[in-house]
Amino acid sequence: MSFESLGLSAEVLRAVVEEGYDTPTPIQQKAIPIVLSGKDVMASAQTGTGKTAGFTLPLLQRLSQSPGRSSGQRFRHGVPPVRALILTPTRELAAQIADSVACYGRYLDFRSAVVFGGVSINPQISQLRKGVDILIATPGRLLDHAGQHTVDLSQLEVLVLDEADRMLDMGFIHDVKRVLALLPETEQRQNLLFSATFSREIKQLASRMLNDPQLVEVAPQNATADRIEQQVYMVDKGRKRELLSKLIHDENWQQVLVFTRTKHGANRLAEQLERDGLSAAAIHGNKSQGARTRALAGFKASKVRVLVATDIAARGLDIDQLPNVVNFELPNVPEDYVHRIGRTARAGLSGKAVSLVCIDESKLLKDIERLISRELPRLQVDGFAPDPSIKAEPIRMGQRQGQGRNRNRGPDQAGDRAGGRSGTGYSSAHSAARSGGPGGSRHTGGQAATRNRRTRSRSSSGRTA
Ligand code: AMP
Repeated sequence: MSFESLGLSAEVLRAVVEEGYDTPTPIQQKAIPIVLSGKDVMASAQTGTGKTAGFTLPLLQRLSQSPGRSSGQRFRHGVPPVRALILTPTRELAAQIADSVACYGRYLDFRSAVVFGGVSINPQISQLRKGVDILIATPGRLLDHAGQHTVDLSQLEVLVLDEADRMLDMGFIHDVKRVLALLPETEQRQNLLFSATFSREIKQLASRMLNDPQLVEVAPQNATADRIEQQVYMVDKGRKRELLSKLIHDENWQQVLVFTRTKHGANRLAEQLERDGLSAAAIHGNKSQGARTRALAGFKASKVRVLVATDIAARGLDIDQLPNVVNFELPNVPEDYVHRIGRTARAGLSGKAVSLVCIDESKLLKDIERLISRELPRLQVDGFAPDPSIKAEPIRMGQRQGQGRNRNRGPDQAGDRAGGRSGTGYSSAHSAARSGGPGGSRHTGGQAATRNRRTRSRSSSGRTA
């Protein structure tokens, strides 16, 4: 199937071709015709499936084909109304989607903007006053704008709720309901909801915000994981950093996203890796938005070789052709393992995910293997065999990243309200996210050659690892 056969206009197709997309992904094949027909959609799709283009391409086309409800009207509070709103849980995801909207819509006459917390609100206000057709937002900062009458959502034509499950996980349900209350009636707008999973809560939210939706489902939850080469190294906790540096050097990994469990752990590991001669940066909720944006841009441009992240900071990160993900520590929630490794092998590419597992994490590893219905191969590097005299200890979590209603919300999002640090400002955050650069031919070539140098043991299941 081709993009032409989906009914997209010449302007949209031109941008798609320039992006280098030949064939629509399964979610795009299914969602694009439905969105073009004006119907509501409830889609189960994870990041990495191409869902952003799945809703953005038809959304752009539909908006370009109608003049907009508000044309000719007087503006409330001097602010032109927004035509389409894309609501996302994290700032990084918002910046990425804004980038995609600008890119796919470059041959159409639209104004788009992104608003999120952690940066000064004033440039965002100026932008909104000038008029924005498509707004990409995180809920907290959007509500700040609504409170200050610097955004008008009363004429909204299309609402996209992206990563709805994460939005709820992060404690945004009340904020989302408040946003819904600012919009025209459900029947008077088109509504698109995307979520990786459909819990009871998501279904409740869907029944509130969707009008007779068409269901769109693509490959099951773990399909992305099938294209990822997954490996486990059993290693003592105190030697993980040393082993990580060795693997990066020996296997010549040039771009590695490493997950730690805590913000403090992320900082410490990045510092240690720097001392090992590897350019590294940490990204987590205690970092200013400016620092997060810089670290991500440096990583995407291959100036930073190792990006050390906590789960929340890494949510939704889309890094073109990221070849390597490392779990320096396993996540407590097995589903997070799938989200983490899904940062690689996106859009049909392959990738490698390595987990460094100490004896304390044996149960977490079993839970993950149960979830993905697969036993992961255990590898060993000479000189790094675990010390059999070390006994398992309970895992200490350090400072929790949020409790109760805001479970998982953590400080990554807490700054989304007005009055957050006045960092680089809206436009620089946007353009820095955009300057991710071409992932092109990224350094995967040397891996196979260096891989066999290391001694391999048999896996615990008896398979050769
Ligand atoms: P998403 O799931 O929307 O975050 O997209 C994941 C990645 O897939 C992004 O880097 C997109 O640029 C890329 N992508 C989206 N659609 C296609 C396509 N049809 N062909 C190739 N790559 C795509």
